[in-house]
Amino acid sequence: MTSIAKKALICIAIVLPLAGGAQLREKFQAHATYLASDELKGRGTGSEGIRLAAKYIATQFKEIGLEPGLEKSYYQEFPFPEQQQPEANIVGVIKGAATTKKSIVFTAHYDAYGVIKKEEQNDSIYNGALDNAIGVAALIEIARLFAEQEAPECHLVFVATAAEEFGAYGSKFYVENPVFPIEDIIICLNIDGFNVSGVREDYFVFPKRGVDYVDQIEAIAKPLGWVYKSPGWEDQLNTSFDTASFLQRSVPALTLWTGDQLKGGKTAEPIPFGKIHSPEDEITALWNWEGVEDHCLLYKAIADYFLNNPSDIKVTEPSLFMEK
Ligand SMILES: [Zn+2]
Repeated sequence: MTSIAKKALICIAIVLPLAGGAQLREKFQAHATYLASDELKGRGTGSEGIRLAAKYIATQFKEIGLEPGLEKSYYQEFPFPEQQQPEANIVGVIKGAATTKKSIVFTAHYDAYGVIKKEEQNDSIYNGALDNAIGVAALIEIARLFAEQEAPECHLVFVATAAEEFGAYGSKFYVENPVFPIEDIIICLNIDGFNVSGVREDYFVFPKRGVDYVDQIEAIAKPLGWVYKSPGWEDQLNTSFDTASFLQRSVPALTLWTGDQLKGGKTAEPIPFGKIHSPEDEITALWNWEGVEDHCLLYKAIADYFLNNPSDIKVTEPSLFMEK
């Protein structure tokens, strides 16, 4: 076993005694269910629903024990075109050593498309369940895992970004106004979509090209039982995630999805998810939440590795992530 594997396994053993798994899943499910509920009306930019979502996330961050990212506030407000009220990233921090400026940033966007009435649709609420209520649920639960252990060496910043769907305004604002200097961000671990297909064995990362750390991620994930399986189309989403705001500026960043492989290598029957960016993106009884803690732990293991080994990973081709 490599030293990375040992470290990762020790971390998991400390943080997640057996009962913890079910507890994490329950909490995860509660966050996702509230954020994707009709009450929040699809968390559209500028709406009452997104304000409720913001309040929920800030309350969770406070309860977990994260420090506010902005002086005394969790709200990092920024202007949004043609709108009077600002939008806001929700920012919580776990401080590392007083002597370091280095940080690892977790991001997940909490906005969705809101309410769009169309004659051909019965439903007008774009609940944004897969995209990205579950990503925010993961962000909150990963933050809790870190908050429950000793303070890390480097700072951890958890950013629920706003206005992603309409031009990644929140993440662009964060890279212009980071809590800790941009040149000292080790990596941004972005969550956009998450595994609600049950226990999985394979994963892949965006981006695949234009960065030099995909092999390193594989070395971290493999001892935990994860198999790297590239679908080959990752490049198509080079500018589709909040990560682009970081990658454009040569800050390492990634989004990590699980694949369709069951433990032992068999291919799973796909769950019929509703189309994202439509009223069909809702939570249904067909969803399988059993793999969420494994997916959270994989993100956490990557962060743990880079906290302990702030290496010199690089974006080798930032131009790949510029909007055309
Ligand atoms: Zn998304």
